[in-house]
Amino acid sequence: MAPKKNIVIVGGAGGAGLARALSPSLDASKHTLTLINDRAFYIHYPAMLRVNVTSDGHLEDRAWVPLDKIFAPGKVGKVKIGTVTKVVDGAVELESGETVPYDFLVLATGSKWEGFLDYPIDRSEAVKLVNSWRQKFANAGEVVIVGGGSVGIETAGEIADFYPSTTVHIVHAQPLLLNDTYPAKVRKAIASQLESKGVKLHLGDLVTEIPATESGTVVTKKGVRLSADLFIPARGPRPNTAYLKSFDPTILAESGGVKVHPTLQVPLANGKTNVFALGDIIEWNEQKMLFKTAAHTAVILPNLLSALNGGKPTKEYKTGAEPIIVTIGRKGGYGYLPFLWGISLGSWVSSTMKSKGLFIDKTRESFGY
Ligand SMILES: Cc1cc2nc3c(=O)[nH]c(=O)nc-3n(C[C@H](O)[C@H](O)[C@H](O)COP(=O)(O)OP(=O)(O)OC[C@H]3O[C@@H](n4cnc5c(N)ncnc54)[C@H](O)[C@@H]3O)c2cc1C
Repeated sequence: MAPKKNIVIVGGAGGAGLARALSPSLDASKHTLTLINDRAFYIHYPAMLRVNVTSDGHLEDRAWVPLDKIFAPGKVGKVKIGTVTKVVDGAVELESGETVPYDFLVLATGSKWEGFLDYPIDRSEAVKLVNSWRQKFANAGEVVIVGGGSVGIETAGEIADFYPSTTVHIVHAQPLLLNDTYPAKVRKAIASQLESKGVKLHLGDLVTEIPATESGTVVTKKGVRLSADLFIPARGPRPNTAYLKSFDPTILAESGGVKVHPTLQVPLANGKTNVFALGDIIEWNEQKMLFKTAAHTAVILPNLLSALNGGKPTKEYKTGAEPIIVTIGRKGGYGYLPFLWGISLGSWVSSTMKSKGLFIDKTRESFGY
């Protein structure tokens, strides 16, 4: 009998979605499937800004979803909790010293965020971090958020909602919030909703160095003096790919992202085609969003199944439309769907779709809860 083919997926957010989708198509007599994640739970980032700002509803209890129900009973697949520190041809190595062999490998290790989004792996340590930030937000009279992308915008919205007497500033290098992916009318509408809640915007300006103490005074590039009890970095993440350097440095772009072919296979220097990548780590010109991981999965799934059966992967990934909904507290928000003439969603629709529930119920369902 032919030896079993081992499939290993590293990273349990988008990677978990792929694992769940792949498992029913596998045959226990022919395949093994191992999903490796460093923490025992999935962090649902769209809820994390509210989680960090307030204990209201203790959303972390539901938005940190355990990875123990990924695979249906009796189906192929197991979850291994551990940090991958190294990849070699045919195996991944864990911090514990364990080696897990693979015939096919999927890399889905996502993003490394800083500051209040840099959650420890251990759940009780992560709770401590969250509690300490909640205390900082409760005590702060003035907060400066550095970065006016969706993380900066949503953080400002949560603070304005839960601590309306706190003065919030956003400093953003571009002349409008977000980036050029989105039409100016969308970026302006979000700005005016924030301003109506008292948020002060410093657009086209820069804070070059955030005080290490988290509080203090900075002078922006334009010469504006800002004093804050709390500086919040919201400058965007780095790809979580340091563990790949010794494997094959040619697959890493300057940004740290993993280069991929449109089939989402990684172009290895040794010519092998058995490594795929998905999610935030791929070097691909698109906005990094959770729903993109499902679109990547829709490409990798048939390609991986085809490769498992000795075929050639043919399905290619193309970035689709770039919709967005940003929350501005529980009752506010703004959305844009780039279909037809471009559909804008005001506060009521955006908050009904996203701000109230933050997609937590749907996410739990997709993790087997
Ligand atoms: C605050 C915030 C709000 C957001 N809101 C939205 C939103 O509203 N809508 C939206 O579409 N997108 C949103 N995003 C973006 C979205 O969360 C990401 O695009 C998505 O999480 C990417 O999924 P991923 O699987 O690529 O990576 P990640 O979610 O980063 O998951 C990577 C996984 O790999 C694990 N891992 C990392 N390194 C290792 C290792 N060496 N060994 C083992 N495991 C490892 C991590 O623990 C993690 O579980 C938000 C992001 C943030 C930070």
